[in-house]
Amino acid sequence: MAGLPYIVGNWKMNGTRAMLSEARAVDRAAARFPKVQVGLAPPATLIFRMRDAVELIGVGGQDCRAEESGAYTGDISAPMLKDAGADFTILGHSERRTLHGESDAQVNAKAQAALGAGLAVILCVGETEAQRDAGEALAVVTGQLDGSCPRVDGAPEKLSIAYEPVWAIGTGRVPSIEDVAEMHAAIRAKLVALYGEGGADVRILYGGSVKAENAAELLSVPDVGGALVGGASLSAESFTAIIGAA
Ligand code: PGA
Repeated sequence: MAGLPYIVGNWKMNGTRAMLSEARAVDRAAARFPKVQVGLAPPATLIFRMRDAVELIGVGGQDCRAEESGAYTGDISAPMLKDAGADFTILGHSERRTLHGESDAQVNAKAQAALGAGLAVILCVGETEAQRDAGEALAVVTGQLDGSCPRVDGAPEKLSIAYEPVWAIGTGRVPSIEDVAEMHAAIRAKLVALYGEGGADVRILYGGSVKAENAAELLSVPDVGGALVGGASLSAESFTAIIGAA
């Protein structure tokens, strides 16, 4: 697996300009951990200012539309994110899939648009609790990968996958280390099936109730190449502790 551990914070719909001080503090802390790649995805309203406020860390969006421009009130395109200073975008987060009804095909089109605009992509997949209880977790997640991974020649260098069990997001519950290992191995196998050898280099992040206390153990699992962090990324102190654990 290539690359440094990648720790990404997803602020979701949290943060006004006053919170840029947290991003600055994360940026200063990141200087102490040169062997970790760090990114923050604030709400779109803060991307431009965050880009100016930080030096080391990546700045990203939380979604984009597949079209470049047009009559899509309230939406933002990949070239617009890029223009605002974003380096990457999260796509297909379960909150988008659930609250906005995003399908695998839509996520796929968004990923192609984002990669085409020069953004790195963190593409999210994950099963619900009912699906896990029914023994369908592996099939659901590999099916989501089949549908949402952009088809390009070789593995897209700028693609990462985030495995986020829906029932672990914001709940304080995390899967067992064995379940994380099993899922990440299945994702790796699917990426190799989709992309050939290059699929071995695609980073796979774990997300869902990652905290300073569990980060080191989760990040030690084979094929866990980083973490996508929601709640614990909202304070520089807790986010920095996770960066330190990586
Ligand atoms: P959480 O969110 O860390 O608050 O569980 C993770 C995510 O939704 O990316």
